[in-house]
Amino acid sequence: MTRNSDCVFCKIVSVEIPASVVYEDESLICFLDHNPLSPGHLLIVTREHYVKLTELPSDVSSKVGSVLPLAGRALLEVTGAKGFNVLCNEGAVAGQLVQHVHFHLIPRFEGDKLGYRWVAGSYEEGKAAQLTDAFQQAFTASS
Ligand SMILES: [Zn+2]
Repeated sequence: MTRNSDCVFCKIVSVEIPASVVYEDESLICFLDHNPLSPGHLLIVTREHYVKLTELPSDVSSKVGSVLPLAGRALLEVTGAKGFNVLCNEGAVAGQLVQHVHFHLIPRFEGDKLGYRWVAGSYEEGKAAQLTDAFQQAFTASS
């Protein structure tokens, strides 16, 4: 099992740092965020130390995909939230503060004043088609 001795999430996985663990299995651990954006804010963290989502092997990413709805159902039941956001910050430019891949599940309530700046744009003529082609090639190359 790959761990990083300087990583706060690896220390939680190895129980060097306490956490309010709500779920764990052979691949993942899920616990309450210590500094929640709203009550019941969960983190899903891989047991092994991977920095980014894009580094995850398929068996671990499959596990993430299967645990997300499970955690979401538990979150809705326990918190009474009407919905939630799933967030993964990939890289410093996206706001990744802990260099160990993790997924936030943030309970949402009517009038909670949480949110983010979402300034929707549009594509110049031909740009969407150019991006579509580039993405299709990238998917083909990486699968
Ligand atoms: Zn780590």
